[in-house]
Amino acid sequence: LVSIQQVSKNFRRGSEDIHVLSKLDLEVQEGEFLALMGPSGSGKSTLLNLIGGLDRPSSGSVAIGGQQIDQLSERQLAAWRARHVGFVFQFYNLMPTLTAERNVELPLLLTHLSKSKRKEHVKVALDVVGLSHRTKHYPRTLSGGEQQRVGIARGIVTDPTILLCDEPTGDLDRKSGDEILSLLQALNKEHGKTIIMVTHDPHASARASRTVHLDKGQLSTEASA
Ligand code: ATP
Ligand code: MG
Repeated sequence: LVSIQQVSKNFRRGSEDIHVLSKLDLEVQEGEFLALMGPSGSGKSTLLNLIGGLDRPSSGSVAIGGQQIDQLSERQLAAWRARHVGFVFQFYNLMPTLTAERNVELPLLLTHLSKSKRKEHVKVALDVVGLSHRTKHYPRTLSGGEQQRVGIARGIVTDPTILLCDEPTGDLDRKSGDEILSLLQALNKEHGKTIIMVTHDPHASARASRTVHLDKGQLSTEASA
């Protein structure tokens, strides 16, 4: 489903080029739940952003579901992203002025769905994450774990090809974090969702079907020291 070949990513810092990813290869099959680990600054978020089409590689190719996304125009890429990718963030990134259901609806506003269809999809997504009783709540009146459930509902509401999670439990206590991991696991096992999750937490990666480690621009399946 995901095929990354010889991908490099450099950032310019002052007069220097920093090489974050160097000729990296990664294949992810449909239905996998992949954990991506590695030291801070190793490029995990950078890699996730390349897969999600939020950024482009300096060289190499990124193909998702047969679509070579590094060759799309900005406009095509935005449309592709809206259709195929769901994002979940560490700090939830919810709009404080919108209720849970309006937050979840946001990605659907980029589609051509009617209002009643949007409502239906929002309801299903909030059901899936177990928040049917909190639809009219504002983010500030929800616990961290509940806010992350809203974040996940927003991530899956378009039924994306792939769900990308950047440290989804990084801001949660152990119990809420475990609940979020169980939810992601259920999305993967019961709904067949392909998930890539960046995490620092060994408890989180233990829930994944496979773990890869990023260090010095390269991936390995060995645990890094
Ligand atoms: P963390 O675990 O702390 O979230 P990470 O593995 O996600 O780290 P990245 O955020 O991918 O690391 O950053 C990798 C490197 O690339 C860092 O040195 C960072 O400063 C640099 N970097 C990331 N994005 C940019 C950017 N837009 N411009 C310049 N440098 C960047
Ligand atoms: Mg990061």
